[in-house]
Amino acid sequence: MTDCLFCKIIAGQIPADKIYEDEYALAFLDIHPRAPGHVLIVPKRHMSDVTELEFAEVGQFFGTAQKIIRLLQDGLSPDGFTLGINHGKVAGQEVEHLHLHVLPRFANDGGASLQSVVHNPPAESTAEMAKKIKQAKVG
Ligand code: AMP
Repeated sequence: MTDCLFCKIIAGQIPADKIYEDEYALAFLDIHPRAPGHVLIVPKRHMSDVTELEFAEVGQFFGTAQKIIRLLQDGLSPDGFTLGINHGKVAGQEVEHLHLHVLPRFANDGGASLQSVVHNPPAESTAEMAKKIKQAKVG
């Protein structure tokens, strides 16, 4: 896509600190790192979000995530990782090209768990919620 920031990085039109590349995916350091080794993994094919991954691409995408975790583990020796995708504007997605944040975690790094990004518990019970979701049609 011509006006996409990450497509431009993939095409080499904008510089980035790349750490891994194959025919399918690119991994580079986030320009505003929230942790040492904060990596973004992007599929080379333009897509806005994870729902646009083809079934066969899902394994490649998460296979790349495994490789990056191993690279970061060997290179930086973190104590753990947080992996996350901001899906949609309301969830904080600024760049509309699918990307997985890989955040190395260190003891006492001041961070928290993924669940802490939202506090909006439903009024319904979990059983009612499960029923509602199961009744929905997958488009
Ligand atoms: P998100 O809010 O999930 O869409 O995250 C977009 C991320 O892209 C942010 O963490 C930005 O710091 C990062 N970012 C923006 N521009 C660049 C760039 N030129 N190179 C590397 N990372 C970038």
